[in-house]
Amino acid sequence: MDKKYTDLQKRILELKAERNALIFAHNYQRIEIQEIADFTGDSLQLAQKSAEITGYDLIVFSGVRFMAEMAAVLSNGVPVYIPDPGALCPLAAYANPEKLRKKKEEYPGAPVVVYMNTTTETKTETDRICTSGSAIEVVESLGAETVLFGPDANLAEYVRRHTDIEIIDIEPRGHCYVHNQFDIAQLMLLKEEYPDAITIAHPECPPEVQEAADIIGSTGMMVQAIENSPNDTFIIATEMGLIQQLQKAHPDKKILPVWEGAICRQMKKHTLEKIIRVLEELPEENLVTVSEELAVEIMTVLEQMNKLKGQGPAKKVVTETAKISL
Ligand code: SF4
Repeated sequence: MDKKYTDLQKRILELKAERNALIFAHNYQRIEIQEIADFTGDSLQLAQKSAEITGYDLIVFSGVRFMAEMAAVLSNGVPVYIPDPGALCPLAAYANPEKLRKKKEEYPGAPVVVYMNTTTETKTETDRICTSGSAIEVVESLGAETVLFGPDANLAEYVRRHTDIEIIDIEPRGHCYVHNQFDIAQLMLLKEEYPDAITIAHPECPPEVQEAADIIGSTGMMVQAIENSPNDTFIIATEMGLIQQLQKAHPDKKILPVWEGAICRQMKKHTLEKIIRVLEELPEENLVTVSEELAVEIMTVLEQMNKLKGQGPAKKVVTETAKISL
């Protein structure tokens, strides 16, 4: 076995082979988990991958709970285990079904679009699910004058700025505590220091940070943008797990985080030790289950989402076109 792995990583690779298992890791996972993962990606990429799996006996899913539940719905019966069942996304919790029902009463007839980062229960009460890359297309596809959108108010603002449709926040306080902390002053200092750098921001960042970026996109899109660009310096506003992945993948490029404190504590709940325990013991409490009723409703909303092509990058906010070549 390759010497580059630590003893814990080697143990996981052995167990993975014994169990005929796959390890999925979100782009924000600890780098040591990403290193032994079969697939890394953003929530949509991991969901899509789950639907393609054949010939494996189980998936260990290192991401937050709603992502693991999506994988369990889509994995064609392959059991999905989560290393730490307490890995919950606080952003997803902002739009609970009760809040959504109240909002629907306030705006009767207005369709509801929610971001992937929403709990499974809330997703089943919506008309469409979107990703950061497809949000604008999904909202526009409904042909409505008013759309209820959530739970992320910064992504809602991004959609508002790019469409003529009235966007009503399901929860105006909804935010990702990691991305909402990016500070425009910090970003501008870096831009001054590296004037030729391309700046990429996640759409969960505050509007002024998005405005200052050359590109706005999901983590999957960031990976793609850096791979395809001849530029060698990038300023990135997203969680540190992705920054570490990018720095490792592109030692020849300068990948600069806007803020090194951008760490999602929920994503980091998963550890190598917890993955080993899951693979050794297959504990019942780590098995991800979704009721059949919820699964059927989720599939319906996902099928509607798939009818749209909008799985690509979010609309680019290009401030200096000459710098960008994707
Ligand atoms: S980074 Fe933000 S949106 Fe993603 S899982 Fe963590 S809290 Fe949720």
